[in-house]
Amino acid sequence: MLDRVFENPKPKVIAGATGDWELVIGMEIHAQVASNAKLFSGASTQVGAEPNSNVAFVDAAMPGMLPVINDFCVEQAVRSGLGLKAQINLTSAFDRKNYFYPDLPQGYQISQLYHPIVGEGEVLVEMSPGVARLVRIERIHLEQDAGKSIHDMDPTMSFVDFNRTGVALMEIVSRPDIRGPEEAAAYVAKLRQILRYLGTCDGNMQNGNLRADVNVSVCRPGDYERYQATQDFGHLGTRCEIKNMNSLRFIQAAIEYEARRQIAILEDGGKVDQETRLYDPDKGETRSMRSKEEAHDYRYFPCPDLLPLEIEQAWVDDIAARMPELPDAKKARFMADFGLTDYDANVLTAELEAASFFEEVARGRDGKQAANWIINELFGRLNKEGRSIADTPVSASQLGGMLDLLAKGEITGKMAKDLFEILWTTGGDPAEVAASRGMKAVTDTGAIEKALDDLIAANPAQVEKAKVNAKLAGWFTGQVLKATGGTADPSVVNAMVASKLGL
Ligand code: ADP
Ligand code: MG
Repeated sequence: MLDRVFENPKPKVIAGATGDWELVIGMEIHAQVASNAKLFSGASTQVGAEPNSNVAFVDAAMPGMLPVINDFCVEQAVRSGLGLKAQINLTSAFDRKNYFYPDLPQGYQISQLYHPIVGEGEVLVEMSPGVARLVRIERIHLEQDAGKSIHDMDPTMSFVDFNRTGVALMEIVSRPDIRGPEEAAAYVAKLRQILRYLGTCDGNMQNGNLRADVNVSVCRPGDYERYQATQDFGHLGTRCEIKNMNSLRFIQAAIEYEARRQIAILEDGGKVDQETRLYDPDKGETRSMRSKEEAHDYRYFPCPDLLPLEIEQAWVDDIAARMPELPDAKKARFMADFGLTDYDANVLTAELEAASFFEEVARGRDGKQAANWIINELFGRLNKEGRSIADTPVSASQLGGMLDLLAKGEITGKMAKDLFEILWTTGGDPAEVAASRGMKAVTDTGAIEKALDDLIAANPAQVEKAKVNAKLAGWFTGQVLKATGGTADPSVVNAMVASKLGL
């Protein structure tokens, strides 16, 4: 299953008055399918549109309207499933989940309870080099999003916007395999990264296009291992579900708060009620929203408006054949082919755009040097200006051209930094800019040698000192660099100093 062996991260332990407690977390992530049209209608999914302008009759639940499945959305669910190494179910079916809400015009949500399109899969969540958790995925199902009630536009009225009604969501359900707040955040980040690589969800958490329901419970040391051995949930504590979290920072804070709240109840001799809670970021607390509803509360039944969804293995195979390289594979390849460290490979594969940029620069060049320049100079500069790699002023071919000049010894490292600055602000071809600005390393070793010989002849005392203490040879390098006006390559000078002084 895994080509590398990982050690499991330690679960988060909270010391209580009656002994230690461990955390157990499972997540249901709603990821909006990156599709221009809704799941069962042709209405647009465009964000920021005039309220209620993207609403087809079927979205508004006009009598007699029938849903028609959007096969592009189905394909995205299959792609996501394959990306999570999950089983794809060739037959799945839609069910009605009945409940009343002003932003749900049908009075039910079309979802997939009994036969989801995607079955069991997995996500590798790496916490540090060699330390990772394999989080099991239980299922992914397709369902409709609801609309939006707006209560703060008018003091006496509430409004409703149905633009989001019927937009396709993938609900990705994990097993309760996550063992702490940092792991939970890392899990969401990893899932988001995979979906963004696949292009099946844009991962925009701020817009709510990716949001998590976080289930938290606490247990005693050893209980989780007993659950793992038997898959019997009886070994775990009662969970509470924190709804609709769309910030990695708040997810961590909410889990921490919720675990401590449950521990306080248990240590007080009470019992945790299974309920749905909301996190209040201003107070840093979770509060009860409603007691936990069960599947039967929703009176689920097969949606009579839709036939079971049958897909063909050949279609799935074709999608599988067109899968892009995913983050884990890319990271492993970057480490193997370019000799990158775990850290550098993580940074460079975090976003697909950065990874592609790196590959373009590194191809046929020194990969480590390319990585250093991109991570330290380029990313540093982009961060400072709040820009993303997508709108970097220095292109991959410009950076590559600059690295070529450096590799050929035509410019020094110091000149390269200046050149990078010029390329950033005024652009241009690196070789032409370097030539027009007179940036040229002295490659003529004769000139360097002459400067060094003069220096050695004039400073016999320094020569003797350097022979005893090699560290003092740096003085000669510094003087030669000065004498050649900073145009000599320090590594060339260093080597020459060492050989002349017999160090
Ligand atoms: P429902 O659909 O009613 O919310 P599920 O059984 O599908 O219930 O579980 C929902 C989520 O809760 C899953 O992600 C699952 O891993 C998680 N979960 C189940 N039991 C626990 C537990 N004891 N502690 C933490 N998470 C749990
Ligand atoms: Mg749930």
